[in-house]
Amino acid sequence: CIRDRFLGSISHELKTPLFTVQGYISTLLDGGMKDKTIRKKYLARALNGVERLVYIVEDLDTISKLEMSEERLTMAPFDIVALTQNVMDLLEMKANKKDIIITFDDKYNKPILVVGNYDKIQQVVTNLIENSIKYGKSGGSTEIGFEDVINNHILINISDNGEGIDAKNIPRLFERFFRVDKSGARSEGGSGLGLAIVKHIIEAHNEKIFVESNLGKGSQFSFTLQKHIEFDS
Ligand code: ADP
Repeated sequence: CIRDRFLGSISHELKTPLFTVQGYISTLLDGGMKDKTIRKKYLARALNGVERLVYIVEDLDTISKLEMSEERLTMAPFDIVALTQNVMDLLEMKANKKDIIITFDDKYNKPILVVGNYDKIQQVVTNLIENSIKYGKSGGSTEIGFEDVINNHILINISDNGEGIDAKNIPRLFERFFRVDKSGARSEGGSGLGLAIVKHIIEAHNEKIFVESNLGKGSQFSFTLQKHIEFDS
């Protein structure tokens, strides 16, 4: 059953950082504490493991809240351009650290009104732009654009020229805990829940998400939203 498998992978995912923290702390207590450099190094690594545990638990919390409140997502019109600009501003520092520029692909001077849950869509845009930075290459860029598509929908595109994704991994990308690099060794490793959360939110809106990617070249994530139509009386 899916639920049991999910519980199984939760405990599996928590084990690695837990054992890491346990290992460093017991080495410290077994005498490692006496050496000043080891003390500092192992404490930093233990903190790293704890931080990993914290964001796994935070993402799990987000998923379980989503599952509970699915029926009650309150939808209202809002300007997707302003929301995106807001997220871009919030992530500017993170992008700067990697020398990545976040831009629009065009001038969007007028609001584009869509219907959805503002907070949840903000989370989607945040996760996708954060990924474009995490898996982007330093000196690269993230471009965001909006396109009209059929049936009064808008397509939001977020593309990067980063590491890209191997075609064989694309079908599994939105699975809970799926990560291309399982080692957790690289500093960019997340919980592996970010895209699962994104997909969950988009589906709760009855909308669609797409991904196109070329290994070594970059990725583009896109999702649809319904446009808000203003009726004149
Ligand atoms: P994580 O917490 O690992 O970032 P996500 O669910 O957000 O988890 O993403 C799952 C995996 O998909 C990532 O570990 C990464 O390998 C890959 N991925 C996601 N976004 C991108 C991107 N923009 N470019 C390249 N790979 C990506």
